Amino acid sequence: MTAAIIDGKAFAAKVRAQVAAHVAKLTADSGIVPGLAVVLVGEDPASQVYVRSKGKQTVEAGMASFEHKLPAETPEVELLALVRRLNADPAVHGILVQLPLPAHINADLVINAIDPAKDVDGFHISNVGLLGTGQKAMVPCTPLGCLMLLRDRLGKLAGLDAVVIGRSNIVGKPMAQLLLADSCTVTIAHSRTRDLPGLCRRADIVIAAVGRPEMVTGDWIKPGATVIDVGINRIERDGKEKLVGDVDFASAVQVAGAITPVPGGVGPMTIACLLANTLTACCRANGLPEPAGLTA
Ligand code: NAD
Repeated sequence: MTAAIIDGKAFAAKVRAQVAAHVAKLTADSGIVPGLAVVLVGEDPASQVYVRSKGKQTVEAGMASFEHKLPAETPEVELLALVRRLNADPAVHGILVQLPLPAHINADLVINAIDPAKDVDGFHISNVGLLGTGQKAMVPCTPLGCLMLLRDRLGKLAGLDAVVIGRSNIVGKPMAQLLLADSCTVTIAHSRTRDLPGLCRRADIVIAAVGRPEMVTGDWIKPGATVIDVGINRIERDGKEKLVGDVDFASAVQVAGAITPVPGGVGPMTIACLLANTLTACCRANGLPEPAGLTA
């Protein structure tokens, strides 16, 4: 059996089109333009690329993009002051502080200074608590994207066995909360988990968010299972740089029922969900109905 390939690139384009259509109507009906502020501190090359594509896709969706690029040596108090200004700015509905921040800045302090209603990354402690207690939250973009792909592929997820490999605050933990809220039986695995292959072999859904190239091999996968590969790893193969996931695609595709490729799987969903979250935040701020199908 060869798995169906889950086309995250095409699905993300559909989400962006849905967001753009909703934004166009919102602006035509009420004059409101959703706005996303992205703050970048320092010159990390990967972060610069992310910020550039976030800004471009924000504008393409008809929203306002506000970019704040600060030097690496910016004092923490200055960054906190900027966050406070953005919290108070009515044109800004979403605020994203690009991580990682330079070592002299306390990232938790900065994230928790963002107005939770504008926290489109869903990392503020209030949103973490809301998600964990099944209340209306801003949901972290990458796990939200994975959930959309799973629902699209499987329909209702209730009763399915899911294994999430990785327990980070950004991916693993919120992913597990979302699957639990959809009534999956969820196991969170991590670096100290015993018999990870055996655990995965019992799962209907495997989410790999580890950061270890091609760790999950086909013999870990239950035949017909759905495999979502969050990993983005740069490796060198045959003298060339290559992007691979946490799943060994070549062997897993022979066993799984459906699988996301890397690149072109989860990756494009992250920015699409950021745009969706910004629109959701804007609708909530203005007491308007939220766009259907774009939230958890
Ligand atoms: P992280 O380093 O914060 O967490 C990795 C987790 O994997 C940890 O909880 C750790 O316990 C677990 N782990 C490490 N080694 C393990 C092992 N041998 N067996 C089982 N578990 C193990 O990473 P993260 O921020 O959650 O990111 C995970 C991966 O997802 C990375 O490759 C990252 O680049 C990628 N990522 C992709 C997107 C996207 O948009 N597609 C977004 C965020 C992260």
